[in-house]
Amino acid sequence: MSEPRPPAVQHDHKTDVPAAERFAARTAGMTASEIRALFAVASRPEVVSLAGGMPNLAALPLDALSAEVADLVAREGQTALQYGSAQGIPLLREQICEVMAEEGIRADPDDVVVTVGSQMALDLVTRIMCDPGDVVLAEGPSYVGALGSFAAYQARVVHVAMDEHGLIPDVLRHTLRTLAAEDIVPKFLYTIPNFHNPAGVTLSVERRAEVLEICASHGVAVVEDNPYGLLGFSGVRYPALRSMDRDVIYLGSFSKTFASGLRVGWALVPPAVRDRLVLAAESATLCPPSFNQMLVSRYLAGHDWRAQIKTFTEAYRERRDAMLAALETYLPEGCSWNVPDGGFYVWLTVPEGVDTKAMLPRAVTARVAYASGTGFYADGLGSRQLRLSYCYPPPERITEGVRRLARVLEAELDV
Ligand code: PMP
Repeated sequence: MSEPRPPAVQHDHKTDVPAAERFAARTAGMTASEIRALFAVASRPEVVSLAGGMPNLAALPLDALSAEVADLVAREGQTALQYGSAQGIPLLREQICEVMAEEGIRADPDDVVVTVGSQMALDLVTRIMCDPGDVVLAEGPSYVGALGSFAAYQARVVHVAMDEHGLIPDVLRHTLRTLAAEDIVPKFLYTIPNFHNPAGVTLSVERRAEVLEICASHGVAVVEDNPYGLLGFSGVRYPALRSMDRDVIYLGSFSKTFASGLRVGWALVPPAVRDRLVLAAESATLCPPSFNQMLVSRYLAGHDWRAQIKTFTEAYRERRDAMLAALETYLPEGCSWNVPDGGFYVWLTVPEGVDTKAMLPRAVTARVAYASGTGFYADGLGSRQLRLSYCYPPPERITEGVRRLARVLEAELDV
């Protein structure tokens, strides 16, 4: 018989210092997402992955883009392959203002800071706004990458509930009053008003004004994260919060409307925030990649990007419809979900007794992957929820994936 092993303490072998003492305390809040842990298995071809939020790039005009890349190197290589300004190249910042005008935003290119994806903007905004222990409000559930940034800077997340019209103003008001009674003023409200990740819902127009008013009356800044706003299915464009209030910190991205691999996003911030944000950006990356920015800039100038977004949106609508039809057909009694009007996600609530985190390895064995709900809450909720993404697999794979998920659920329920 083998000896019982002592509990594992990780050591840094060079110094023999326990790892926990060697790293900064803030790293304790950094956790791997469950789906990343399962990534190797979940990305096997036989597994239908409804887990990740990978945009579907099949419709991109790759020939035209490769000609653009070649021309960029030939004609502007000296600039494209060189360092650039920390704030981002001026022409692209002007074009970003045109993109934002689609959602009613009037902005000065001087107030735009280009970042390495909007994820970096989220990280930098948290870095310049939050000390350890500061409170941040976020919808419950919320974007896992934002929760990761908040955890990395040791901010405390307080969730605000949503319904089918998005964040609930009365709950926001009540939460702020409760915190005020403890002398706590949150640093900001982080919100995803359009086609929420993961909840799929959109904040109604009436509520937009109300949310802004509540935050202003409590002196709480608003961070609006809007990577999906142009990917609506009904053709209705909701006014961005930033179009209604110039103090809103707005985050945008080309990841879902053009190409996520280029890692080009931005923040539009009030001038008082901009200078600190640029300093933080400079210390993080010196400057965003010139080459990628110039490629995005050429794409916006020389291609019909609005038509491309329409093409993407049609593909996503077809996939959304396939998913909704399959959920209706296959899922057992007692499941409920929302009907997203844009974006990538369906948020599913499963019957009592099913734990979506515990079920995930069994689902992967049954060759379907999803993102379990707990990853989208900072407070341990979400075990009866899961997020399904319809953005990537083709419709027939989505149908098959939901069919497999239904069987796994039935086995959990023992029906
Ligand atoms: N915010 C939300 C709500 C997202 O869903 C994502 C990507 N999944 C991001 C930010 C980050 O996007 P990126 O860094 O690619 O711009």
